[in-house]
Amino acid sequence: MAARPAPYLDGLNPAQRQAVEALEGPVLMLAGAGTGKTRAVTARIAHLLNTGAARPNEILAVTFTNKAAREMKDRVGASMGHAVEGMPWLGTFHAICVKLLRRHAELAGLKSNFTILDTDDQIRLLKQLIVAAQIDEKRWPARQLAGIIDHWKNRAWTPGNVPAAEASAFNNRGVELYAAYQERLKTLNAVDFGDLLLHMVTIFQAHGDVLDQYRRWFRYILVDEYQDTNVAQYLWLRLLAGGHHNICCVGDDDQSIYGWRGAEVGNILRFEKDFPGAQVIRLEQNYRSTPHILAAASGVIAANKGRLGKTLWTEAEEGEKVRLIGHWDGEEEARWIGEEAEAMARGSRGLRPYSLDDMAILVRASHQMRAFEDRFLTIGLPYRVIGGPRFYERMEIRDAMAYFRLAVSPDDDLAFERIVNTPKRGLGDKAQQKIQTMARTNGVPLVEGARLLLESKGLTGKGATELRRLLEGLGRWHGAVLEARQSHVELAEIILDESGYTAHWQNDKTPEAPGRLENLKELVKALEEFENLQGFLEHVALIMDNETEECGAKITIMTLHAAKGLEFPVVFLPGWEDGLFPSQRAMDESGLKGVEEERRLAYVGLTRAEEVCTISFAANRRVYGQWQSQLPSRFIDELPEAHVEVLTPPGLYGGGYGAAAPARGGIEEAATGADVYNSPGWKRLQAHNTTRPMAQPRESRHMVIDAEAVAAFETGARVFHQKFGYGTVTGIEGDKLDISFDKAGAKKVVARFIVAAER
Ligand code: ATP
Ligand code: MG
Repeated sequence: MAARPAPYLDGLNPAQRQAVEALEGPVLMLAGAGTGKTRAVTARIAHLLNTGAARPNEILAVTFTNKAAREMKDRVGASMGHAVEGMPWLGTFHAICVKLLRRHAELAGLKSNFTILDTDDQIRLLKQLIVAAQIDEKRWPARQLAGIIDHWKNRAWTPGNVPAAEASAFNNRGVELYAAYQERLKTLNAVDFGDLLLHMVTIFQAHGDVLDQYRRWFRYILVDEYQDTNVAQYLWLRLLAGGHHNICCVGDDDQSIYGWRGAEVGNILRFEKDFPGAQVIRLEQNYRSTPHILAAASGVIAANKGRLGKTLWTEAEEGEKVRLIGHWDGEEEARWIGEEAEAMARGSRGLRPYSLDDMAILVRASHQMRAFEDRFLTIGLPYRVIGGPRFYERMEIRDAMAYFRLAVSPDDDLAFERIVNTPKRGLGDKAQQKIQTMARTNGVPLVEGARLLLESKGLTGKGATELRRLLEGLGRWHGAVLEARQSHVELAEIILDESGYTAHWQNDKTPEAPGRLENLKELVKALEEFENLQGFLEHVALIMDNETEECGAKITIMTLHAAKGLEFPVVFLPGWEDGLFPSQRAMDESGLKGVEEERRLAYVGLTRAEEVCTISFAANRRVYGQWQSQLPSRFIDELPEAHVEVLTPPGLYGGGYGAAAPARGGIEEAATGADVYNSPGWKRLQAHNTTRPMAQPRESRHMVIDAEAVAAFETGARVFHQKFGYGTVTGIEGDKLDISFDKAGAKKVVARFIVAAER
């Protein structure tokens, strides 16, 4: 048979080609970021099809996201020169397992039309079981149990084989509740996410005939991002590949970032033992990034212990050094990135012009997105958020906003419906029905209906007590809005506190809870930029209105986790500060494990960049209305200096970069003269406990602000406030200053918000 043309082989390097052409037997491609692993997997699929080794539906190919699956399918088609019909088994573990489980549902005691529960359903169900087992749900919350069960499922432990060491989980009742939960799911003809794999592993283990059928059917197995598989996924793959061993896994131990979700980097290291005779292929040429970016990434990851270690090289032109910039605070960071993105789009940075589509902002925690979204909306910079709702669409944000809306206008029925039983107040459907009826009958808003209901004793017991408390709270908060006695920021905190909403998430032990609390803090932070609650609510309403998807280029905002496997010509990495990145949780974790996983995340972030990579940090962040000094991330210390260029922030520092007008008008102080960047331990020491921004080696003009000095003002001193502008100190009281502002008049302001102005 004449060989068909194989355009997909063109341009592959010898190692990639080997991986593509070694169709029979196990293959492990273990290589660093951007070395063409995913490309090789794609070419391998094309090769399987082109040589007739397999039909499209005989290939099992696992990707990490649905998006990656779509892309791979498109690329296989493109590289073969024609669209590929029907690759039903190219997808994520979950997508593939749903299909399989539908076919064999009865073996798991289910019907093929089973439903897949979301987290909320799952929690509700667990709560019922906890209550039925007469366990105090307040002390032992359902979310915690959900986390435990998830963890067990990731390890492929059914209730019957949870190891004895775990018996004490959830007050010794975990295993028993797990069993009850699984039973309940069966009765409901439902599964949760973790079940998809767990059931399939169990079915394959118990039914050799079914397993054999698929072993014959899936003649070739390919897995991308293998370093992030958990035990259940690993077992599932090992079972399926057990017959023919035609399995090709690709991954990078340095990019293992899902340990917190049960992924085991050990799976990749064990491959040769599991599949004796495996060909291990290493790729060393990086095709994605410039040498500076690559060197910076390699420098950071080198600090991790116990790596396999890899060499990476590139033929790409030297390009830009990794750019590092320190900012006064998070808002300034967002402002700078917005301006920088616009400037780069115009091509006015001495670089080629980039489309906004070429740019991405990769954040560690999703709450960081808020500052960017707000800023970009303000300046009209088009953006998209990938992997998760935009900030103001998140559940906890919508809940909190509903409380604020009610404080402003008690007639807001939609808001009332949303929060009447959030957090739980024992006001279930029945009670809510009664409130609705009362309100309708009397033609009044729900809040009023609720009051009438209580008055008429139409509701009793715990629900009544709680409803009364809620109504009292709403009355108080509304009064506070009208009187404007306290700052709206303070009031917002009081509302979240008194309503029990903050406590609700504080008592929640699931992995998402800390993130939700951070989002709430971020919400309060956003409030500070507005005069009052109304103004803020209007702002958000406008944002939400803005949602229509316009076409055109957009800058991407996403988390580092979601960015795995992707690449962008221009990458911004904001918030490189200890406590944020690495996250506080990771730093608190015993040993180095947490920080090492964060470092791999830093490596993932850096290696997403093709041409221009900018790391930034802020010297101050506001947390719950308090300024907090930040230390630059330890990962910044680990960047090899030769590959880093320190940028001068414009604005406050009077810096020359881009010659932007100083945002805070003419605040300058004499340079210290010290080249701080080159002094020993400059980054951490300089930043320690101060609001001192980074100094710039290339610029002599920069200012250093010391927190203590900031506080030490004298009467008569000229000062500057971000919002109120210039003024003169007229009095000092503790940490507050009386200031007569030139434009804004007399005000009392916390000293921390004030900087000395040039005379
Ligand atoms: P990651 O670890 O980040 O997932 P990867 O190893 O999967 O990276 P790919 O995404 O496959 O890397 O490839 C990175 C970039 O290099 C892509 O733009 C790809 O098209 C390109 N590339 C891969 N192999 C080659 C090659 N042989 N010649 C030219 N470009 C290549
Ligand atoms: Mg890849």
